[in-house]
Amino acid sequence: MGASMKITEIQLDRLRLDLDPPFAAAWDPVPRRHFDATIVRVRTDKGIVGVGSGDTMDGFAAHEHLFLGQDPLQILRHVRTIETINFYSGRFWPLEVAMWDIIGQVTGQPVATLFGNALQQVRVYASCGELKSPGERAESALALQQQGFRAMKIRIDRNLLDEGVAAVAAARDAVGEDFAIMVDLNQSWRMAGDVEPALDFGSVRRTVERLRELGVFWVEEPLPYSDSDGLKALRAQTGVRIAGGEMLDSVSEVLRYLENDVLDIYQMDVVLAVGMLRARTLGELANLKHRSFTPHTWTNGIGLLANLHVSAGIGGGPYFEYPYDPPGWTPERRDFMLADPIRITPEGTVAVPQRPGIGAVLDEDAINKWRIR
Ligand SMILES: [Mg+2]
Repeated sequence: MGASMKITEIQLDRLRLDLDPPFAAAWDPVPRRHFDATIVRVRTDKGIVGVGSGDTMDGFAAHEHLFLGQDPLQILRHVRTIETINFYSGRFWPLEVAMWDIIGQVTGQPVATLFGNALQQVRVYASCGELKSPGERAESALALQQQGFRAMKIRIDRNLLDEGVAAVAAARDAVGEDFAIMVDLNQSWRMAGDVEPALDFGSVRRTVERLRELGVFWVEEPLPYSDSDGLKALRAQTGVRIAGGEMLDSVSEVLRYLENDVLDIYQMDVVLAVGMLRARTLGELANLKHRSFTPHTWTNGIGLLANLHVSAGIGGGPYFEYPYDPPGWTPERRDFMLADPIRITPEGTVAVPQRPGIGAVLDEDAINKWRIR
């Protein structure tokens, strides 16, 4: 069957969900009044349809001909082709997700099973997106704990270090010691147009030392990607786990990080950075070196599922990112294109969907309602 399957159509649906009230992402100088998602559907002559999402896929029309008529099961060919396009254009990894969704359906298996099947459910952390006052963050932490979460991530603004550390301290007071708290400084990459300099090494080191006293599980992206020596020195000098790499979209750069042992935790997003197959290889390399891989997932429900299958497949962890910071960021907003938002279990885990493929069931009414015309 596989040898004769052909891609007949690649459909892109561009969606824009209104956000009222807006979502004030800590890493974006501009509050978000809408949330965009591009849904990729790869149709085949066998009637199987694969779904992906994540990157915007802007500019894909010029490259579509490289995939039409091809066999979706020749996955490495497609990964290599997407890599050649990425040099000129966007990060068309949602297309690879749709191909894996097809491969899963052809084989009758969830993609995580094809990727190693190490975990059937993953422990998650609530990845908070907004900056909140210490009092508000303490309340939010307590609410998360009551909902079953055993871990959370708090953002600290580079211009409000004292207030940020105070918010982490307030959250720690609220939830006690038996709860993992991660901190993200968002210093490694920038929204377009944000040219403010990153914090210098000394201020970052002093901040990480203060966070160490609060028992922080990891500190994420404390320095720019270009300062890999600084990242490595931070690990050595503070003894705190350093995480990063969510947007490192060059496989050779990630390999260089791994060779130089820059990070404790590698986080390449499979729909924004390196794709599913490469993330599997690099994540396994990290694991084989006794380092961790747990991907960034901050796109939408489909991107979350793609990352979940890779992470669960290779035994990523120890915690998986679950973007959640109500009321600003909720499963209903994040997964608005899915028939059922992805929920956590009472034990603070997310189960890998057992449907063949990536297990995304689309809400066609929502897609029609929010499609950009
Ligand atoms: Mg991050």
